[in-house]
Amino acid sequence: QGLLHDKTAIVTGGAAGIGLACVKALSQAGCNTIAVDIDEQVLSAMQGLRAQGLPVHSIVGDVRDRMQMQKIVQSTEALGGLDIMVANAGIVRTADFLEMTDTDFDAVLDVNLKGAFITCQEAARKMVNQNEHSPGRGGSIITMSSVNAVMAIPTCAGYNASKGGLSNLTRCMALALAPHSIRANAIGPGSIMTQVLQSVVTDEAARHRALSRTPLGRIGEPDEIGQIAVFLASPASSYITGQTIYADGGRMAL
Ligand code: NAD
Repeated sequence: QGLLHDKTAIVTGGAAGIGLACVKALSQAGCNTIAVDIDEQVLSAMQGLRAQGLPVHSIVGDVRDRMQMQKIVQSTEALGGLDIMVANAGIVRTADFLEMTDTDFDAVLDVNLKGAFITCQEAARKMVNQNEHSPGRGGSIITMSSVNAVMAIPTCAGYNASKGGLSNLTRCMALALAPHSIRANAIGPGSIMTQVLQSVVTDEAARHRALSRTPLGRIGEPDEIGQIAVFLASPASSYITGQTIYADGGRMAL
């Protein structure tokens, strides 16, 4: 029994980092949680959580593939339907702005923005349908944006553009889905200790730069983002929709 004990969630990019932390936090709150990831490691990562008695499931899938995402969303029928979607899958490609290739720009937009669009649209269609049959059931859609939705890194053109787009896509979904009692919010992490961060913060100088613009003086932990996902998924946030909640150790206040 927990805050989300009768709910079902899907988390994309759930095999590692922030996604894995969201899977952990949601399932610890009692939520039946399905981790989806393009990396087959998702299967072994979930075995570990299942061994702890947590209600987790895993499916290998690609957020860029609509048919796959549609199937995965429909599979929640066996668990009583879908209540929470965490569209977290994301990638980064770095290059000097003048050197960034179309291939790298497109790759990032395809996963971070188009992939989130596909994921959230499939989830929303399912939730709207459920609400027609069970009025008031609602639903919560959570996207994983970034401080880079508004603060740019010059070597991450595609990433900055994708996250700005994702926060605005989230506002669009909030407006479109409000009549169905479905909420949509984004989380905007600052620097969180995961593989993505390690690919950007590659040396001591970069680490120092990241810390120097973080008033709390430390890199964040994935679990600190997982807890926000639980909050946004739960009735504790029932009047919040269309927001990006930044968890950045104070960076945006600078
Ligand atoms: P990560 O690389 O540790 O995890 C990302 C996961 O997404 C991986 O398991 C990867 O296999 C999966 N993935 C990639 N492409 C996919 C696809 N097409 N379909 C399904 N799964 C796919 O990264 P992370 O740091 O945990 O990042 C998670 C999210 O948080 C991303 O959207 C990222 O942009 C965002 N974010 C991270 C930070 C940070 O500092 N780590 C800061 C702001 C935002």
